[in-house]
Formats: sequence, structure tokens, C-alpha cells
Amino acid sequence: MSEISILPEFLINKIAAGEVIERPASVVRELIDNSIDASAKKISVEILHGGKQLIRVIDDGEGMDRKNASLCFERHATSKIKSEDDLFNIFTLGFRGEALPAIASVSKVTLITSQPDSPNGTKIEIRIGYERLITDAPVWRGTCVEVRDIFYNTPARRKFLKSVSTELSHIIDVVTQKALSYPEISFSLIHNGRDIISVPEAGSRRERFIQLYGEELFNEFFDASEEGDGIKLYGFFSFIEFARATRNYQYIFVNRRAVKNPTVSHAVYNAYSGLIPKDRHPAFFLFLDINPRKVDVNVHPAKREVRFDSPEEIHKLITSSLDKNLSKGSPVTMMQDTPSYEWTETRGPFAVHDSGPVFDSAGFQTDILTYGAVPHARYFYIGESFIAAITEGGLTIIDQHAAHERILYEKFLKKTSVEVENLLFPARIELPVREYNVIMDNKKLLHDFGLDFDEFGLNNVIVRALPRELLKADIKGLLLDIASGILEEQGTGKEKLIHTTAARLACHKAVRGDEGLKQDEITRLLSELEKTEMPDRCPHGRPTRIHFSIRDLRRLFKRE
Ligand code: ADP
Ligand code: MG
Repeated sequence: MSEISILPEFLINKIAAGEVIERPASVVRELIDNSIDASAKKISVEILHGGKQLIRVIDDGEGMDRKNASLCFERHATSKIKSEDDLFNIFTLGFRGEALPAIASVSKVTLITSQPDSPNGTKIEIRIGYERLITDAPVWRGTCVEVRDIFYNTPARRKFLKSVSTELSHIIDVVTQKALSYPEISFSLIHNGRDIISVPEAGSRRERFIQLYGEELFNEFFDASEEGDGIKLYGFFSFIEFARATRNYQYIFVNRRAVKNPTVSHAVYNAYSGLIPKDRHPAFFLFLDINPRKVDVNVHPAKREVRFDSPEEIHKLITSSLDKNLSKGSPVTMMQDTPSYEWTETRGPFAVHDSGPVFDSAGFQTDILTYGAVPHARYFYIGESFIAAITEGGLTIIDQHAAHERILYEKFLKKTSVEVENLLFPARIELPVREYNVIMDNKKLLHDFGLDFDEFGLNNVIVRALPRELLKADIKGLLLDIASGILEEQGTGKEKLIHTTAARLACHKAVRGDEGLKQDEITRLLSELEKTEMPDRCPHGRPTRIHFSIRDLRRLFKRE
């Protein structure tokens, strides 16, 4: 047995940093938390190269005197709790005394802090995690922390960092979350000298929401509030027709901390269930203020999770508040009348065979159709997204949305077959900051798909040309969809991004499930589907059509 030794302080901090500091955005979050805990009214974040090169957070908070400043990099040094009882009654964002030593162990840190009535400010430079140089600094009110070359001494972790735009988007997310939960504080974020976020102090959460996302997005939400025993709920929730394709806009704040929480998410989905399609997601910004004794915030090193004393109570409060509001209805109704059934005989592209279905390893039917002769087919719009094609040899059910997605997807991938048209009037589109950055960062990729646009002032783009297929699209919705696709795939490589973007473009324009197509449109759709490389699946892997041969029917009716 080798000998046991107690690890040196520096190494302990470095190990702890593994849990607390995952990426530049974690540093930004911890430093903003400290500024908020110091009662700052104004917090500025400046970063270079996605925070890989520099993160500087400046606040106008209480600052520290020389004694406290020289203690704050010690492990477990905190001014926020003193006793065990405090741990169960936490009103601050920090309390573990871990962030500054953890940050200092994996980067080059300089802290400058001052209190207005002290004779001197203090500057502390830390190198190699423990060497400290303490000097005088000018007197002012507040603190500035500069973090350079994150993970410079942990090459494996430095290598793990993603592209500048990915790291930047995580930072934007952190600053946005903080700005949402602290409307009374003004926030700014500057990246490589460019203003990314700039929001002055706001009078309410609603005002802050509009500062960050604009009126247009705000109109897609209703707000709801509810009170229970020691719990206050407030939130913005998307009207049902603005449910989204992704989980992108789902924020939960518990006592002003952004967290993930399955109980809360489940309660929201529960309230929306049956009101929105199964593959759509509600967008929500939900703020819960709870008596700190009823919630444990000390369950995750980066404080991203919480544990409620009584989850059922929270679940009930959210569901009942949303039930009331969702049943009030929204400006537009979702359901459309199902068109009446209509039989028409027409020539179709289908031939069928009688050898029974074959499934591949993923469980998809691979022999959905075979082609030789072109017999007569009858098309029949069943309702929702489904068309039935009935031939002498059996029955094929086609999901028209999935089929159209496949056709457009392949068209977009083969860029040569996309015709680009100039818009009659260039469209100026304002985007939320994170989406704006993603769109601008991927300008070349989108240009290759036929989207021609340029920067047009803060968080605005001007769109000049689009692929012909997309001319009638809601351009803002399209850009938001593309951005959310790219955000989900960040770091997965260019090839994946190209496919995801093509799938988003296709999905955006594909005929909606509930649109009843005319006979000639169905014929065109099905014959174009035949010409695609993978006519049996949509770009997301769902089947576009399912065939029942006579033999399948015999089996289903237990005649075999
Ligand atoms: P924690 O926030 O959990 O207490 P940190 O390591 O983040 O631990 O910070 C240690 C201490 O340094 C804090 O408790 C606080 O007293 C002080 N401190 C850190 N940042 C600031 C700041 N921006 N303004 C004033 N005091 C600060
Ligand atoms: Mg802290």
C-alpha cells in the first residue's frame, strides 16, 4: 500500500475547479453572482475570444477592505454564512467560498477592489494559483476581477473548450439569465469590443424581458402569478400557438437562481399537454420565490439544481396557475376543421408487392414500396397530416409533412437546385442577442443555402434574398429556428451543422400537417418524393410512409 498524504492546498483547489469551473461561462456566472451579492447596481462584463483570453467583470458594489481582499482567495473563505443554521437559510447566491480560489487555480487572476471611505484600494495579482502580489489601487466603489488565459495550466481542459462562438453563446446565456432575474441591476456584455447586451435598470421583470427580447417576442407570452404558503410564482408562458420546436426558451429561477428542475418542467408540460402537439415545447420563464428554509440550494457544485422540501406543493401551484390561464384561451385557436372526406381516382406512382414487410435494425420498414408498373391509386386525405393511397395491392399511408420535409431537405443539401430570389423590399429583422450572434457567426453557411443578409445595427439583420421556396416564409421565425438548430448542434462539426440547417429550412417550409392538399398537389408531392434518395424517411428519421400489403392485412386480421 502506498502512503497516504494530504494534498497541498493548490491541488485541492484545482480539483475543486473541475466541478465549479467548466468553461468561461462558469467564471462569468460566479463573478456576476459575487457582484450581485455585493449589492451592485451596475455590472459590466467584457470578454475577449469567447472568454478564453480574457473575462473582466466590473461592479459598483460594496467592495472589500484590504483584510477581506487578501482572504477572499482562500478556500472556504466566505462572508455569506457563519453557522450551520445559515446553510438552511440562504439569501445570497454564493455561500461555499469556492469560486475565487477555484478560478485562481486554473487561470491568471487580478482583483482590484475598493470601498469609498477607505484610504486605499487594493490590487491583488495571483499567478500559478498561489503566488500573490498585493499593491495599492485607487479609491472608488466596487470591484473588478480580471481572469486571463483560462485553463492555461490544465491543457487537457483548455483543449476541451469549444469554438469562440460556442463559448460566447454560453456567456450570453449566463448574462441573459442574470439580467432576467435581476431587473433592478443594469448589465452590459462586450465581446471583442462589440456591444452584445446593454440593458439599463428596469422597473419590472416584464420591462426587462422586453429590453432583452423585444416587444414582438413578448407578445407571444402571457404572464401568470400565484401564491402559496411561503411560495410566490411569477412567469411568462408562451401562448399555445407559439409552442416551439425546441426546448430553447425554458428558464426556471428559484430564489433568483437559474436552475434545472424536473418537478417544475413536468408541471409546465402537464399544463400544456393536450393543448400543443406532442413534438412541440412550451417556452417559459418561471420565477419561484420560496422561503429559503423550504428549499435546499446546496445540492450541486455549480448550484444549478435545487431540492424542494415539498415538490408536490410546487407542482400543484404551477399546474393550477397555468390551468387557469391556459383555459382562458389565446388570441388564435389551434385546431382547424378537418376537411370532409373525398375520394378521387387518379394515376399514382405506386406499385406494391406481396412479400411482407422487411424491417432494418433501427426498426424502420425498408421495403415500404417497390416500383415496376404504375397502377391506379386512389388518394384520400384522412386528416391531420395523413394521406392514404389505395392500390389494388394494398394501402400506403403517407405523412405529407414528413414527405415534403424529405423533398426540401435534399433540395437544400444539393445547393445547386436552390433558386435564390431577391426580396422586393429587404426585410429588417430584430433578433434576440444570442440568436443574432449565432446567425451572424454562420453567415457563410447560410449564404451557401441562399440566404443573403447583413448586419444592420445592434442585434438587427437586413435580409435581401432568400431561396425561392422560402420567399413566403416568416423570416424572423425562420432565422430563430435556424439559430436554435445551430445552438443545439454546436461543437458537433461542420458537416452536422449543414445537415441540421438544411433540415430546419426544410421543416420550416414543409407543408403543415393540417393543410389539406389538392389532388394535383398530392400527386406532385408523391412523385417528387419518389425522386429523393431516401424517400422512406424524413430528415429526422421518422417514416414518410408506411405500406400495408394484402399479406400484412391478412396477418393483421389473423387470417394467417
Ligand atoms: P462565496 O461567494 O461563496 O462566498 P467566493 O469565492 O465567490 O465565495 O468569494 C469569496 C468572498 O469574497 C465572498 O464571500 C465575498 O465576501 C468576497 N467577494 C467576492 N467577490 C466580491 C465582489 N465583487 N465584491 C465584494 N466582495 C466580493
Ligand atoms: Mg461567489
